[in-house]
Order: sequence, then structure tokens, then C-alpha cells
Amino acid sequence: MAFLIRVALAVLALYLLWRVCGRLLRSPGVNGGGRPVDPGSRSVDELVQDPFCKLYVPRREAVVLREGGADVFFCSAACRDSYVQRGGRHAE
Ligand SMILES: [Zn+2]
Repeated sequence: MAFLIRVALAVLALYLLWRVCGRLLRSPGVNGGGRPVDPGSRSVDELVQDPFCKLYVPRREAVVLREGGADVFFCSAACRDSYVQRGGRHAE
């Protein structure tokens, strides 16, 4: 009976080894072996600079102002308002 248990353990060990090898072969270092990356989230999180306080903010969270046909991005509405009050890009 002890022989059967040993055989069963050997088969189990081989099975586990085979599964680990199979997983390694299927995904050779994809994403550094980490979490799955949400598709598209990288490009959306492009950083833009607030010209008023010089902070960098993710583009999709930025407050946008149209100025002279171009988009100007701000970290907050307060920065946008202060920028507009100062006369936009002609300030300084
Ligand atoms: Zn700001």
C-alpha cells in the first residue's frame, strides 16, 4: 500500500511540475508576469501640464480650456479661472 501512495505522490508531483512548466511556456514574461493590464488605460492616462501652477495631471481628469483653437489643461477649475483672469498665455 505504501508503494501505491508513493506512486500517487510522484504522479501528483509530475502533474504539478507539468502545469507550472506549461504556464511558464505559455506566457513568456508577458507584463513581467504580473497583473493583466487594462487595455487602453495607459494612453488615456497621458499627463498634461497645468500652465498656471505647473502641476502634471492625467489628461482625462484635467479641466480643459479652449484657447485660440488649442486645448489648455488645468488641475482644477480654480487654476483655470486664475489663468483666465491673468489674461491667459499672455501673462508673465
Ligand atoms: Zn493647477
